[in-house]
Amino acid sequence: MTRSQRITVLGATGSIGLSTLDVIARHPERYQAFALTGFSRLDELKALCLSHRPHFAVVPEPETARRLQDALAGAGLSTRVLWGESGLCEVAAHPEVDAVMAAIVGAAGLKPTLAAVQAGKRILLANKEALVMSGALFMQAVRTSGALLLPIDSEHNAIFQCLPGDYAQGLGQVGVRRILLTASGGPFRETPAERLAAVTPEQACAHPNWSMGRKISVDSASMMNKGLELIEACWLFDARPSQVEVVIHPQSVIHSLVDYVDGSVLAQLGNPDMRTPISHALSWPQRIDSGVSPLDLFAIGRLDFQAPDEQRFPCLRLARQAAECGGSAPALLNAANEVAVAAFLERRIRFTEIASIIDDVLAREPVQPLDSLEAVLAVDECARAAARTWLMRHAG
Ligand code: NDP
Ligand code: MG
Repeated sequence: MTRSQRITVLGATGSIGLSTLDVIARHPERYQAFALTGFSRLDELKALCLSHRPHFAVVPEPETARRLQDALAGAGLSTRVLWGESGLCEVAAHPEVDAVMAAIVGAAGLKPTLAAVQAGKRILLANKEALVMSGALFMQAVRTSGALLLPIDSEHNAIFQCLPGDYAQGLGQVGVRRILLTASGGPFRETPAERLAAVTPEQACAHPNWSMGRKISVDSASMMNKGLELIEACWLFDARPSQVEVVIHPQSVIHSLVDYVDGSVLAQLGNPDMRTPISHALSWPQRIDSGVSPLDLFAIGRLDFQAPDEQRFPCLRLARQAAECGGSAPALLNAANEVAVAAFLERRIRFTEIASIIDDVLAREPVQPLDSLEAVLAVDECARAAARTWLMRHAG
């Protein structure tokens, strides 16, 4: 074993960030936290710095950076505290970093994740929104820099594990018929359509199987999460949208499957705990202990499957349409969804209006090719403005 791997954790204070630090702490001889970043939970970031002793921390503002730097120095730490997007990009691309966990939520994660890609790092990709917004550019940057892109999203990590090592030749070349993307169905899987308008943010965030940040919890409840994951799968595995089928599997034990032309279907199973895909991507191609308890099939007893209901969950249909349309459509979908989810969490709109906003933005904004980061960011901003206009008209 050579020296321990230095890891930057973008979004260290979040659900994925904390699970990553849990795995890192189990293997101090293999991994060390090089940089930790936070945004609003800065007391938590300070506590994480005290226990993981990183070289760098990143916060949003210069004033909070100075205060955290002083507090850490007072505790005997030499951690340098940077701030803002430039600070995030610096710790993502730092020459001493081996791997970057990309776990900032939403479009805010795009630039730092791209900075890590351009620096040719091992990228542990949790931030699906970055890939959805800028898929073609992102994957081109991966090819150009030689970065190693490993999926953290449990479904994509499962698919990666079920594919042969040479899948980049093309799914058809390696005998893959389709990808079966599993979905728990979220907290409203069985809620009748007429009751969905009245559900609360608390109900939407109470996921039956996974404990996650609020934005992805709402996405899971609306099934937009599966729509974003469909687009994510197309980019990661060079699949056509028609090659990805969504399967509702309420137990969240099978994390996804790959269907081969000879009739073989390979699946990856495990308890619903993100430390499994995180450990897999940290140590790939080796395996390490993640702290996740062994799967007890007798306790689980049965595995159920059903087809998704795109009438009750229109976000899934909208995402598939955006995937098929290509160009800027997925970036429009993602930005409108981010604005709509934030408005729902602030109780400005009903749950069912999330889909109405996205539908409206997709109908209004022209679809165009995206050939630069500037073009991606401009489309993102246009879609946000259109979604905010909808909010002003309908939500006061
Ligand atoms: P959380 O909301 O728990 O964490 C988000 C992290 O991003 C926090 O560290 C937060 O800082 C930071 N952050 C938020 N906004 C900004 C910003 N504008 N600039 C810089 N940092 C910011 O989310 P999750 O951990 O649940 O999810 C993270 C990503 O991983 C998402 O893209 C999600 O889709 C994906 N993912 C998550 C899974 C899960 O099980 N949780 C599963 C699969 C994918 P702070 O907390 O200090 O405000
Ligand atoms: Mg997932």
